[in-house]
Amino acid sequence: MRILVTGGASVLLASSSEVYGKGVRQPLAEDQDLLLGPTVKQRWSYACSKAAAEHLTLARAERIAIVVARLFNTVGPRQIGRHGMVVPRFVRQGLAGRPITVYAKGEQRRCFGDVREVVDCLVALAGAPAARGGVFNVGNDREITIRELAELVRERTGGRSEIVSVDYQSVYGEHFEDLDRRVPDLTRLERAIGRRPRADIASIIDDVVAYERAAGVPA
Ligand code: UDP
Repeated sequence: MRILVTGGASVLLASSSEVYGKGVRQPLAEDQDLLLGPTVKQRWSYACSKAAAEHLTLARAERIAIVVARLFNTVGPRQIGRHGMVVPRFVRQGLAGRPITVYAKGEQRRCFGDVREVVDCLVALAGAPAARGGVFNVGNDREITIRELAELVRERTGGRSEIVSVDYQSVYGEHFEDLDRRVPDLTRLERAIGRRPRADIASIIDDVVAYERAAGVPA
């Protein structure tokens, strides 16, 4: 693989918070150990491939300018709901007045970053000489349970939907494993570029609702 870099920017590898696996410690800091599940569980293949991509990229750090970004849940207008993606799914369900499908009890928690702020951070990381050769979490660190998210979406989409609990097996089949929590430690990001995503999830949902209404995207 040959990589041509011009203009002083770094090559940015878009990695994922999935590499932390089950998260030995929260908040998740970039240098902590990774704890992945067994290979019979499909989820971990993604984590493994992203971790391998990080290794291959970091192995070139002495010769080319690179930076690795571990993206946490990123949401906003225009996101598709095809591969899980809880926010666009809930918003479309809410707008259609259909049941909002919370998997399991909805006690699992996530932190949702606004895609516009996340992209700004990525551009800043790629252009920051101090970030070269480093691994950075990129996301928002405010947590919400999936049940709370469902309630918020219901409220912001007119309140017609009921919230239902769906078991994982009926959606994913056997051998599925969800994560209870995933909170980024953003200390390193903020130190490198002087900012981090801060938008409130309620305002992001309002933007997604406005987009879905205007687009009239079929659910
Ligand atoms: N989820 C849910 N209902 C849905 C889609 C997702 O309860 O219709 C849950 C999912 O089980 C997970 C969380 O929402 O706990 C976030 O899912 P998503 O696929 O958006 O991202 P993940 O964090 O799993 O990569």
